[in-house]
Amino acid sequence: MIDTHTHLTDAPLAPALAAVLARARARGVTACVVPGYDVGAWRAARALAQQHAGVYAAAGVHPLFVAQADLPALADDLARGGFVAIGEIGLDYVDAGADRAAQHLCFHAQLALARTHALPVILHCRQAHDDLLAMLRAAPGVRGVLHSCSCSHEQIKPFLDLGLYVGFSGVLTRANTVKAKKLAAVVPPDRILAETDSPYIGTATHPAPGSEPADVADVIAVLAEIKGMACVEMDRITSANARALFGAQLA
Ligand SMILES: [Zn+2]
Repeated sequence: MIDTHTHLTDAPLAPALAAVLARARARGVTACVVPGYDVGAWRAARALAQQHAGVYAAAGVHPLFVAQADLPALADDLARGGFVAIGEIGLDYVDAGADRAAQHLCFHAQLALARTHALPVILHCRQAHDDLLAMLRAAPGVRGVLHSCSCSHEQIKPFLDLGLYVGFSGVLTRANTVKAKKLAAVVPPDRILAETDSPYIGTATHPAPGSEPADVADVIAVLAEIKGMACVEMDRITSANARALFGAQLA
């Protein structure tokens, strides 16, 4: 299994990393993608990837961190290598005071870097799907995933038409979840990725901040149930999708 989105750089996962990775391996997780959100986080993610087999890093400025964005450092670090994606990047309008113009500039610059370096993007989007779609359409050829996707099943088609993958997180495992389950029902299996966004998104059994990469097994189990497949088949498909997006080196 592959957890395509976990913040192993952050507490409480980072201080317990050896145990966290051992529990993940025990449940069959062979690879994790660790996105960055600012320069400190992506450099920490790259260091983890260098130290631990099966850990892969992404670098990017999260829309809620644009005030301290260091785009020259991002361009330098991407040129040096060691990253499988640019992320997490995107738009977040949940806070009415968010500086949307600054988010647009930062996202636009990072889409350009994705094209320069031929890297996929890990997209964070909350309450900004129309603007995100318009900016992605203006950057043809950029591949990526809508991570912990909050689109409705009615909103997703134009994103699928752009070739994007759709990431499902622990939200799917909660008993009262309706929207994400309806979305999973309409996304074709060959576009589904599994993730935890641990420790920030919890599962039914491990509420945030108690979630960790091992919990991706529970996400895959619910996806299998929704699609009427065996867990092992859903694992095979989501792992193949992760390798198709982030690279064949993901074990
Ligand atoms: Zn995240």
